[in-house]
Amino acid sequence: MRVAFFNTQAYEKPFYISNKDINFEFIDVPLSIDTVSSAHGCDAVCAFVGDDLSADVVAELHRLGVKHIALRSTGYNHVDLAAAASFNIVVTHVPSYSPESIAEFSLTLLLACLRQVPSIIHRTDQLDFTTAGLMGRLLTGCTVGVIGTGEIGCAFAKLLQGFDCQLLGYDPQRSARFEVLGGEYVDLDTLYAGSDVISLHCPLNDATQHLLNDEAFARMQAGVVIINTARGRVIDTAALLMALESGQVGAAGLDVLEGEQAIFYQSHDELADPQLKALLAHPSVMVAPHVAFFTQRAIQRIAEVVIANLLSGITDQYQHVLKPAT
Ligand code: NAD
Repeated sequence: MRVAFFNTQAYEKPFYISNKDINFEFIDVPLSIDTVSSAHGCDAVCAFVGDDLSADVVAELHRLGVKHIALRSTGYNHVDLAAAASFNIVVTHVPSYSPESIAEFSLTLLLACLRQVPSIIHRTDQLDFTTAGLMGRLLTGCTVGVIGTGEIGCAFAKLLQGFDCQLLGYDPQRSARFEVLGGEYVDLDTLYAGSDVISLHCPLNDATQHLLNDEAFARMQAGVVIINTARGRVIDTAALLMALESGQVGAAGLDVLEGEQAIFYQSHDELADPQLKALLAHPSVMVAPHVAFFTQRAIQRIAEVVIANLLSGITDQYQHVLKPAT
């Protein structure tokens, strides 16, 4: 089996080349309409969150004879599933690999925001060791709103138990596990009004796109801390910037951003994106380049599941298949 492995990061290769049943062709650049021809002669492509799997690219993959898109991610909002289904291309993903990796990073961002770590780093970099304006806030005893209480939301809730937090949850599908962890399900308005911190752990879909917008921020407590390790477009970035300026949002820890595909996983001499510039310049914002998942355990587990997903295609018994919404 030949697999075009797009957007290869050097750290990934060792986890895949040891498999002798699959011939991986490692391609350093992201999958796009300009690079898709590299999949010529391959049975499958392996893609990550920064790869373009819109309808045009999927159609071209079909023309090249590709039968399987094996994602190295849980999220699949970057894939046109309807287009793939129309060409009988199977799309598989990694449903859950290490929720603790993302949950622990969410907590890292949260504590960094509460204790003003972005400002502390900036000041000490400038050899400024004064403390004016650096007074922090405690997580202990905070009310934390968790939007999306699946694998990662629950792993995050479990960590917060150690901080005696009150947990409010919103999810159209309730989980008994979240309630066992002490979480209380409420409607979104109650969660917005009652939370000192709001952390996003839902997928990006029609219902969650720009879920946190002007209206939502206005219904929150002044000074609320926003954590997003879900997907960038769950937050309306323009609205977040305004809420940060007014103080309605006190701080934000963002591992994911709108338009991140053109920015993350590469280095830049300068940035054209004014919103990202404003976020990076804001003393109460911490931006990370979509690294919440990035631990040894997660990369190992992703590779195991991706390889099993690819091999499942040999017998046509595909596992972890994604279907378009009906
Ligand atoms: P999951 O499927 O276990 O949980 C997602 C939960 O969100 C489900 O319980 C679902 O019912 C809920 N949900 C769906 N629509 C919702 C809505 N409108 N409002 C509130 N909740 C809603 O998935 P997971 O493994 O916990 O991952 C959650 C998300 O985290 C992924 O979709 C992905 O976008 C993101 N993620 C980010 C990283 C990273 O490195 N930053 C890594 C993995 C996953």
